[in-house]
Amino acid sequence: MARVAVVTGGTRGIGHAISIGLKQAGYKVAANYAGNDVAAEAFKKETGISVYKFDVGDFSSCGAALKQIEADLGPIDVLVNNAGITRDGFLHKMTPEQWHEVIRVDLDSVFNTSRHVIEGMRARGFGRIINISSINGQKGQIGQANYSAAKAGIIGFTKALAQEGAAKGITVNVIAPGYIRTEMVAAMKPEALEKVVATIPVGRLGEAEEIARCVVFLAADDAGFINGSTLTVNGSQFIAG
Ligand code: NDP
Repeated sequence: MARVAVVTGGTRGIGHAISIGLKQAGYKVAANYAGNDVAAEAFKKETGISVYKFDVGDFSSCGAALKQIEADLGPIDVLVNNAGITRDGFLHKMTPEQWHEVIRVDLDSVFNTSRHVIEGMRARGFGRIINISSINGQKGQIGQANYSAAKAGIIGFTKALAQEGAAKGITVNVIAPGYIRTEMVAAMKPEALEKVVATIPVGRLGEAEEIARCVVFLAADDAGFINGSTLTVNGSQFIAG
């Protein structure tokens, strides 16, 4: 029977490609989003994938929605924690709201969703949790103390949970993308984009489908010996030790 996969932030950008990649690989997919109903409806029409609107930063909303997904599609085998936001600013100008919102959506979310699926995964003896971090969680980035902290936190979370679930058939891994050609990046001024590309030895931006391919690889039943890893996908812009 087809395994069930949930992709947070699965209707736009990198998550859009991940949802499609998993569907093409034979998974029953549920794609989450926060509030952009127009994009979510267009995605649903385009792909036939069910969409679920809930805030990944809210623990009880995650619990209710994941329960609904299980009622609709079956037990969740694969969880992709992809939803994320930025609220950039130098620390000397950063507000507590900018700090807390990024920690809430980018880091608390990983607890909020994983906590609700982990018991079922343990009971069934199988699970795949794939967390989308960032190059900026590995190397730090000016103007992103909040985002870099959240994305580095995801890596620590992953290493701990990987060990907790290992004997129960659960793997937990990170993908750390570099600059990917999403709407946000494509909207940058050409001169600014050129400067970014100049720092990427491969000489181009990454494509969302290249991240999706990594997710499908880590989600597979026969990827069970890869656990607690961080897969760096950044065109060698930053080579983590
Ligand atoms: P986008 O902004 O294109 O899409 C974000 C998705 O997350 C949307 O579906 C959005 O829903 C959803 N989302 C945002 N906040 C919440 C929330 N509180 N609850 C539920 N869903 C939410 O993001 P990207 O594709 O650019 O990024 C995806 C992930 O990859 C993020 O974690 C990001 O940090 C990471 N990343 C991205 C890089 C890049 O170059 N783009 C580089 C490195 C890492 P809605 O449509 O309703 O707003």
